Amino acid sequence: MDDCIFCKISRGDIPANKLYEDDEVLAFWDLNPQAPKHFLIIPKKHVVGPADLAREDEPLMGRLTRKASELADKHGIPDFRLVMNNGAKAGQSVFHLHMHVLGGRPLSWPPG
Ligand code: AMP
Repeated sequence: MDDCIFCKISRGDIPANKLYEDDEVLAFWDLNPQAPKHFLIIPKKHVVGPADLAREDEPLMGRLTRKASELADKHGIPDFRLVMNNGAKAGQSVFHLHMHVLGGRPLSWPPG
């Protein structure tokens, strides 16, 4: 996806403040944090959003979730919220699947 900003970050075409990277997934600190600790974890494979996941992506989503938890622990975020927005009306602004990991302050419920 030539014009996808998260594909560009995955390819190394534009910089990001990375926490973790392997062949399949990448995690980086959010540019506009909504909590004291806020990072994103993405699959390197371009998937538009949760509604576009294929059955074959199920193991990848398991990896994303486990890695998000592992990184939260490593970065001192014992209590955290995982958020995936699907569609513009739900707040999705980048159309490459990503999981927000937010923590470092009490998080209220319900979200806005
Ligand atoms: P969403 O609104 O759920 O699609 O989330 C997209 C997130 O990506 C937002 O929290 C943005 O602040 C973040 N973001 C956009 N561009 C970058 C970037 N170049 N580096 C880090 N985070 C970014």
